[in-house]
Amino acid sequence: MYICIDLGGSNLRGTWMDAAGNCGEALNMPRPRDLEGTRRMLTGLIQQLMQRAPGKVENIGLASAGPLNLNQGVYFTPTNMPELKDFDLSGFISGIFGKRPFLENDAQAAALGEIYKGCLAGEKDALVFTLGTGLGSGVIFDGNVWRGKLDAGPELGHIFMGPNHGMRCGCGQVGCAETWLRASAIKDLAGRNRLALQGLKELDTYLEQGDERALKTMRQYGRRLGLYLSQMVSIFGIKNIGISGGLSRLAPYFREQVQESIRFRLASRPWLVPASVEFSRDPQMSALWGMGYLMRGSEF
Ligand SMILES: [Zn+2]
Repeated sequence: MYICIDLGGSNLRGTWMDAAGNCGEALNMPRPRDLEGTRRMLTGLIQQLMQRAPGKVENIGLASAGPLNLNQGVYFTPTNMPELKDFDLSGFISGIFGKRPFLENDAQAAALGEIYKGCLAGEKDALVFTLGTGLGSGVIFDGNVWRGKLDAGPELGHIFMGPNHGMRCGCGQVGCAETWLRASAIKDLAGRNRLALQGLKELDTYLEQGDERALKTMRQYGRRLGLYLSQMVSIFGIKNIGISGGLSRLAPYFREQVQESIRFRLASRPWLVPASVEFSRDPQMSALWGMGYLMRGSEF
């Protein structure tokens, strides 16, 4: 049995999982935005899952937003969780539970999860992008996370995609792909289409009602995403593309434009065009499955 945790900017989520990928109900809670509260809630969640697990728990795995030094288990300056700067996550967990946890960046864990149990199940090579508060990426070669020669691997959300009305990225720069594709970018885009949104949940209602401003926003977003993905395919030469994260639920409203835009950008190199872009059916589970995949077969 393994305990799988996903520690994100806004939420803390976890479940138990066995080596075959069977798992219990996922517990989900809003994460306190301070270090002490996060430590307390994390400990409580792991204890609760250990009680629920129907067998001996061998290991604990944590997927977390970063950047995180995966070897030492210490946070750098997390883009969307500044309160966790320099926090020794690995030392904290081993101090309480007596075992060093498996750690993985959340977007890379999500990528592993999607080739394990998700929309790209069975694939060995994949590019998976997590669209939500930010834009996370995972490059999978031959069933493993590819990190180049870096500890944390490439951060494809922070490549330059063009100035974006001076919109600043969490990394401090302007023009990052993340500023074009994160959830708040959809809100801004809707505003330019004269649709003022408080939160993104509202957009779902407008879309269901067939509101043209909302539908147009999604078409524009789809073209942006397609442009971005066409570049990623050109760099990595991998055509299995998956999208996870909270925004994948909106895929029915923009997936056609994603495909159109990729085909247009790669019109002269049709062999690079993916047959389809796959969207996660259960984005809340992606990173948890990924941690289970990493720990399967491991023993304490
Ligand atoms: Zn950035």
